[in-house]
Amino acid sequence: MGTTIAQGMVVTPHPDDAEYGVAGTVARWIGEGKDVVYVVCTNGDKGTSNANMKPEVLARIREEEQTAAARSLGVREVIFLRHPDQGLEDTPEFRKELVRLIRIYKPETVATADPYRRYVWHRDHRITGQVTLDAVFPYARDHLSYPDLVKEGLHPHMVREILLWGSEDVNYRIDITKTFHLKLNALRCHKSQVGHIPPQEIEEWLRERHREMAKGEDFQLAEAFHRVEIWQ
Ligand SMILES: [Zn+2]
Repeated sequence: MGTTIAQGMVVTPHPDDAEYGVAGTVARWIGEGKDVVYVVCTNGDKGTSNANMKPEVLARIREEEQTAAARSLGVREVIFLRHPDQGLEDTPEFRKELVRLIRIYKPETVATADPYRRYVWHRDHRITGQVTLDAVFPYARDHLSYPDLVKEGLHPHMVREILLWGSEDVNYRIDITKTFHLKLNALRCHKSQVGHIPPQEIEEWLRERHREMAKGEDFQLAEAFHRVEIWQ
């Protein structure tokens, strides 16, 4: 019998954000024997410049792409919440969905988009980050916040660490030099998003981006985060 426990949970606004933000780190965790699950908040059905693309077709394509990307990294499970793209709101229902998943999977680390990036930042990214932070603390932690979940057997869980990607306030860098190729492969699975870019160009762009993030470190390529440690 398997366990539902996963050491890492990635909460991504759209299919592909996790690959840009944290896939090199996810590949590292999986290489270290950790279980990782993805939670994909929206269906990504606005993410196209093709005027002939039907939203429902795009949503299906992007789900397949996200599944392929996650599988290529060794992610154990991908949970699709299927909220509308550009339609995410900070609601009690969305928060409870995330609390439920945190209590089911009991991750030590949760990675998501930094909600505090200023000015131009996708609304779905801001809301995903904010609601995830709220779900982690205090809602997933407290017995009395969702007595109905406790009755279902979903007891409080304390996440230990949050990693926020897309941050303007980076305080933590993870060496992805050895997993960069896995991140690149995963990103390339999102053909509807990057399929029109020559493969060499994506690689050069991505390598430069992560070289930049590793500046000042003694390794070559990094993913950069704002890291928050949670105390008891
Ligand atoms: Zn996004």
